[in-house]
Amino acid sequence: MAFMDRAVRRVLLGEIAQGLALTFQYMFRPKVTLNYPYEKGPLSPRFRGEHALRRYPNGEERCIACKLCEAICPAQATTIEAEPREDGSRRTTRYDIDMTKCIYCGFCEEACPVDAIVEGPNFEFATETREELFYNKEKLLANGDRWEAQIAANIAADAPYR
Ligand code: SF4
Ligand code: SF4
Repeated sequence: MAFMDRAVRRVLLGEIAQGLALTFQYMFRPKVTLNYPYEKGPLSPRFRGEHALRRYPNGEERCIACKLCEAICPAQATTIEAEPREDGSRRTTRYDIDMTKCIYCGFCEEACPVDAIVEGPNFEFATETREELFYNKEKLLANGDRWEAQIAANIAADAPYR
């Protein structure tokens, strides 16, 4: 009986008809694929992407050179040097992150008392050489300037859960 059943299915191309019906069904369902990089999926406000150093709205650097981020970094990717300014405030003279060592754990962001160092929403920072992944203070501040609106919105969205 099973043999007859299989023979009939083969002659009538039952499996092909079933397959085509399934394909036809999926043609009218919402697509689950994205045409990256032209289309991008949603990102969580807690997404840990490329690092950035933020400024206050008046342009002053947020970082007060406390070095907590350097101390907590499990990968020892951060190097900070600091000295007092003429007005007595303390600021970094060097702030480097070796992005080839970073494991994107987010500890530096968690440790920072003034929300200066953050892992922003940018995940498109692949490079052709290792040297390009040795970030210095200028690069990190430039990242902060570029992504500030998005970073501030993400911090505000996450604030009620902290
Ligand atoms: S994300 Fe983690 S590994 Fe990367 S710099 Fe911050 S603390 Fe270090
Ligand atoms: S980024 Fe934050 S934690 Fe790191 S040195 Fe500056 S103020 Fe301190």
